Amino acid sequence: MRTAIFGDIHANLEALDAVMSDSQKQEVTNYVCLGDVVGYNADPVACLNRIRDMGCPTVKGNHDMDASEDHSLDSMNPVAATALNWTREQLDDDQRLWLKKLRMVRQVSDYTIVHSTLDQPAHWNYVTNRFDAMSNFSYQFTQLCFHGHTHVPRVYVKSDKVREVPAESVEIEKNTKYFINVGSVGQPRDGDPRACYAIYDHKTKLIVFRRIDYDIKKTQKKIRDAGLPDVLAERLAEGR
Ligand code: ZN
Repeated sequence: MRTAIFGDIHANLEALDAVMSDSQKQEVTNYVCLGDVVGYNADPVACLNRIRDMGCPTVKGNHDMDASEDHSLDSMNPVAATALNWTREQLDDDQRLWLKKLRMVRQVSDYTIVHSTLDQPAHWNYVTNRFDAMSNFSYQFTQLCFHGHTHVPRVYVKSDKVREVPAESVEIEKNTKYFINVGSVGQPRDGDPRACYAIYDHKTKLIVFRRIDYDIKKTQKKIRDAGLPDVLAERLAEGR
């Protein structure tokens, strides 16, 4: 069994399609989605329908929550809020209900998935160093947990202590726990504009990160045509 673990798609259909076609070439058999299906970019309906039709286990991201509820977004970053208000107008009641019903945390076979962290999943905390990761590990009861939210691939490992290792390929060892950020499909922020996701090979116990080129210019044009803030188009080319 080979599982593609992907998240933070953020309504970027070109990036999602590129990841899907790469995963097929990589002989992936299963999929799980770490949330933030919508927000920022211009294809919320197509991306939501694509993932809903796949029927893969999916957890809720903060943008999924904000897009599916009616609360004011005034306290939010104005660019993200503009995109979310626009997203709310694109989605129909069924689509919003699907987002609303997503769970915060799920266990899938022998691992756990969450958008942000297991200690306070509804607080949407960002894990950017091993100290943040420590709080998560206190609530992680499976050997592996996959998450997203920062849009930066990272691997935190807990054996006698918690440390960070490079997000390249990771061999799963016994008596060790892993808290793995698989990066972002639709809006990477680590300086590499290519779409990012991970493949977990259950037999070889190997997790590999994948970076995939996609048609960024096409995505940028859709963002501009939709009247969304230009900075959302610009940042895609820079991976930030
Ligand atoms: Zn996100």
